[in-house]
Amino acid sequence: MSHLIFKNINKVYPNGFHAVHDFNLEIQDGEFICLVGSSGCGKSTTLRMVAGLEDITSGEFIIDGKVANQMSARDRGIAMVFQSYALYPHLTVYENLAFGLTLEGIDADIIEEKVTATAKILGLTDYLERFPRNLSGGQCQRVAVGRALIRKVNIFLMDEPLSNLDAKQRVTMRSEIKQIHRSVGATTIYVTHDQTEAMTMSDRIVVMKDGRIQQVGTPYDLYFHPRNLFVAGFIGEPPMNFINGKVEGGKLVAEGISLDLAPIVDDVKAIEGKEVVFAFRPEAISLDTSGKDCYVIDSSVDLTELLGDTTNVYANIGDVNVILKVNPHNTPEMGAQFKFAVPYHAAYVYDKETELVVESSLERHS
Ligand code: ADP
Repeated sequence: MSHLIFKNINKVYPNGFHAVHDFNLEIQDGEFICLVGSSGCGKSTTLRMVAGLEDITSGEFIIDGKVANQMSARDRGIAMVFQSYALYPHLTVYENLAFGLTLEGIDADIIEEKVTATAKILGLTDYLERFPRNLSGGQCQRVAVGRALIRKVNIFLMDEPLSNLDAKQRVTMRSEIKQIHRSVGATTIYVTHDQTEAMTMSDRIVVMKDGRIQQVGTPYDLYFHPRNLFVAGFIGEPPMNFINGKVEGGKLVAEGISLDLAPIVDDVKAIEGKEVVFAFRPEAISLDTSGKDCYVIDSSVDLTELLGDTTNVYANIGDVNVILKVNPHNTPEMGAQFKFAVPYHAAYVYDKETELVVESSLERHS
């Protein structure tokens, strides 16, 4: 296991493109960290700097107390799994797993011991004599993970390792990778554009946009305390609902809506006259509008989508579209006018200009 520190790391590619800006992060021994963000936000560049495959333009990268900027990839104690699992097609699973160790000239009995142990962790014991063409996508990916795992490493890096798998295999592999991490314990950095993967697997998530960290936190923290509009919109599926408006006389005013902000913002005067965004999650609403301490909002149904355990209602508030999750046994009809409630403790206010949350509106979210 290794402890990692990134101090003001920047990456400027030779063509002048500044791909990573002032990346600061400390990763504890054995932590599972996900870097998440849309394509092109600098996740792979960051991972490749950790692996020693890409130079660090400025800043310090520290592994277990030692500055590692110039350390060779070999000396970093790192194994990496890529999106394309690139197994050797003419070698069996056993030979694929053993390949690196054979090259290093390790004794055959030690190799056998390691292959057997790794295959056991990954549930590949019955497949050792098979060739990759006779394996499913999930099994191939497990062999690829096994090839990285078989070398004793302190740091495990994974770059979108599940993107070639179908939806069902991805769900299975997610929990398998978590279990492997639990039993092996290596510090892990996992890159994905998929917020569900990040939410389900990580100890902590690093959300990135345009080469900059937006927020670092546990999945719980990011879900309930998103500090800016990007994180609020990126984490959660269906995404957070946003209503743009202006603060007039302490109220959020938008077409067809007027909401008193005093119950959720401590100092409403400080945001008087500002453009703000009122936000709430699709599942935070209730169709029972009789309770206290909530906003009651008028809307009309565009479309409903039964998912089984829940129904998504696509609704309009004035000219704003929102998505609401409701009980499938009690769904408003398509085209109907209806009211729904947003509890004060489930609403957020963001400053449109800075895109940052109005702090006091976060405090009620436990
Ligand atoms: P992600 O992994 O989040 O999709 P990358 O780290 O691969 O993003 O890329 C970040 C940005 O850096 C992208 O805009 C990409 O086009 C750019 N980039 C990546 N590699 C190079 C390179 N060798 N030279 C110039 N720009 C690059």
